[in-house]
Amino acid sequence: MNIHLIRTEGFPEEQFQELLAFLRQQSGILQFVGGKIVTLNPDFTYHIFLEEKDYSQQFQPRMQKTSAYRSESSNFQESYTKPDFPLRQRTYNWETFFQTCKAYREFNQIPEKDFIFLLTDRNNTENWFGGINQQMNNFFVHTADWPLFFRMLNKPIYPIAYEIMAWILRSMMYPSRETIYAHVHKEPLGCINDFCQDKKQIILKMRTGDICDDCMDQIINNDVSPPLLRQIQSILNEVRQHILFSRNRNVYLTSSRLLIDLSKRTLHFPEYAQGKVKLNPKELALYLLFLEQNEGLALNQVVDFKAELLEKYMHLSGQNNHERMQATIELLADYRENELNITLSRIRKKIKDLIGREFAEKYTIELLANNKHGISIDREFVEIIEESFQV
Ligand SMILES: [Zn+2]
Repeated sequence: MNIHLIRTEGFPEEQFQELLAFLRQQSGILQFVGGKIVTLNPDFTYHIFLEEKDYSQQFQPRMQKTSAYRSESSNFQESYTKPDFPLRQRTYNWETFFQTCKAYREFNQIPEKDFIFLLTDRNNTENWFGGINQQMNNFFVHTADWPLFFRMLNKPIYPIAYEIMAWILRSMMYPSRETIYAHVHKEPLGCINDFCQDKKQIILKMRTGDICDDCMDQIINNDVSPPLLRQIQSILNEVRQHILFSRNRNVYLTSSRLLIDLSKRTLHFPEYAQGKVKLNPKELALYLLFLEQNEGLALNQVVDFKAELLEKYMHLSGQNNHERMQATIELLADYRENELNITLSRIRKKIKDLIGREFAEKYTIELLANNKHGISIDREFVEIIEESFQV
């Protein structure tokens, strides 16, 4: 089943791609298709807010922006800029969103049974996080303002992903849009179908990532396919992990020293774990190469460092079969072969298994913001021990 994601310009390309990648992590029946930028009909009204007070009043009770504006958190400041007043905001009615979906569907010959999600930073007249059309195949999800609710969250893609999954599930649970509305929980239960009259209540349901017993009965009664439910729940669970993790982010920001023992070929993270990561000579040679590259290395550049890799490999393995070692490195350094990726993921898995995913990210070889691969830990934390190392 295809889910087409399209966006208006205000939802940045980078976040859009990140969201797609995140949703595609859990394989299953739902296939997420990256769509194009669309333009809304110029069919909007203006709300003019002379000052912050008016802004909050206008949106009562569903919008409680004012308290969040006063937040002082630095993370929050990074990701959200308080608007200037007086503020004039365009507000669209839902039909405008759905007409855009409809036009996109027709132009691109997308079958009626496929879902289209319009991701937009534009305000909607009902001031909802998302919505569904009458035929239940076009949707919209609001992409802006998430930092107001998740102060510590550095990426809004997780709540957006949650909304997408919630709307897909609702459309499968109930026969019509009206029944969806009739069954939302007015009192928040921490369930996916909480209405969140006060928008802040959304925090609860995303933290629990849960589906209540009544809704689960409804899911069974309406024959939602189990693999589909499983895929949705896996994604909700991933969202939950990220949202819970974001609250602890500052705690996790503390780093451990990384002690690398070349003779034993071990990585030790004394502040995180008692045990050690044991790497084979090939893995360690590659790891050391990336550690030396502070700015990272594109995978197709590894081949330029064949000589360095071979030298490290020979030292670490302590073997003499030069030809065989050279062949191993030739294969490893060629990014068109699978060997490089396999080796990188083996290293990644070993480190994650020891210290956990959250801590591991800084120590594993990952895609960096500059599109190269590298290890992001500050090198001041790294100590290489070679005393007992014999060439
Ligand atoms: Zn429920």
